[in-house]
Amino acid sequence: MLKHTKISDPELYRLVLEELDRQENNIEMIASESTESEEVLELSGCVFANKTTEGYPGARFQAGSQTADKMERLGIQRAKDLFEADHANLQPYSGSTANYGVYAAVLKPGDTVLAMKLDHGGHLTHGSPANFMSKFFNFVSYGLKDDTELIDYEELESLAHRHRPKLVIAGGSAYPRLIDYERVARAAHSVDGLLMVDMAHVAGLVAAKVIPSPVPHADFVTSSTTKTFCGPRGGMILCKAPHARALDRGVFPGAISSIHLNIMAAKVWCLKNAATPSFRTVMEQVVKNAASLAKELEKNGFRAVSGGTDNHIVLLDLRSKKITGKLFQDALEYVGITVNKNMIPGDPEKPSVTSGVRIGTTSVSQRGMKEPEMRAIAEIMNRVAAAPEDKENLEGCKTLALEMTARFPLYPQ
Ligand SMILES: *Cc1c(COP(=O)(O)O)cnc(C)c1O
Repeated sequence: MLKHTKISDPELYRLVLEELDRQENNIEMIASESTESEEVLELSGCVFANKTTEGYPGARFQAGSQTADKMERLGIQRAKDLFEADHANLQPYSGSTANYGVYAAVLKPGDTVLAMKLDHGGHLTHGSPANFMSKFFNFVSYGLKDDTELIDYEELESLAHRHRPKLVIAGGSAYPRLIDYERVARAAHSVDGLLMVDMAHVAGLVAAKVIPSPVPHADFVTSSTTKTFCGPRGGMILCKAPHARALDRGVFPGAISSIHLNIMAAKVWCLKNAATPSFRTVMEQVVKNAASLAKELEKNGFRAVSGGTDNHIVLLDLRSKKITGKLFQDALEYVGITVNKNMIPGDPEKPSVTSGVRIGTTSVSQRGMKEPEMRAIAEIMNRVAAAPEDKENLEGCKTLALEMTARFPLYPQ
């Protein structure tokens, strides 16, 4: 690995090795993470990185783009086949940029957008006051029902009727349940609005058909290509045929300029890989592992927000354990389990403290961990939560976590 950098910049080389070592020896459970295959790592650093290209296949702004045209066309075809979509755009640099591409395609300043609240599981780019999009569009937000912690569809419908949004957004960063895309589409279309589903977190599960697809219902589907899709750090967008031209113009020149062709190459590989039985097997295990983890954690006295999960995310409410998200995250990091603190619906704590943690099962499933390991992880988490500041306790837990990572190498070959 990095045989040239090792000689020309040993200091930096050592940092990369240090990071590999950290990933190898920790149980990585950040829900937005996954492990990139060796092909994705190779392609992300391939010679396509040297080429500047803007525009679309057959209509480029730079000479020498014939091979890039072939690669982009191959990827678009694969994306359309995989997701059964009318049209695909693989140019966005990330999930965020994919969303900006759709906004550029269909919104004018001052237009109303209806999206899920950030502290109920939405995303920064869906209208958080901290994100600059909130200066240009009038974001209105829906949330979860207090009792079920599921999306409050009735509230969504009444807000749609009251505000007549140009765009409705479904999909979030910390929502562990399935979304009724058909119902949200009906609400959007009944007021002549468009539906954008942001499937950044669940694209891999959708590709493997282990959860329902938003593609038949949504006008636009945006995504990150990391997270459950297990690809490079990039984005993609699918849309219905009548929006294809507007979308392509929204992405380029609306939201980005030159394409990251090396990263696009890695996406093209993933779009083939995601159709294989082995990818499907991993995605099935991701969902089984999350369900099993939620159940085992509940047996250990934790509370899963919404009572469980349908995807790769378990959102834990730690108030029953009388600890904060920050304290639990830090104690788990010490023992070698990486999660992130996360707001829970109606969280009384500040965003820097929180009452919850978000846990994801993608990376551990890619490493081959199954239900018995989820039970063991839940038991370690319970021991950590019982005495998060007791060094001796944490050392004991650390040994258990290390025994597990040693049995499931990150890159077996
Ligand atoms: C992660 C995420 C994004 C942003 O993706 P990046 O690739 O990190 O820019 C957008 N929307 C949702 C719902 C996400 O979870």
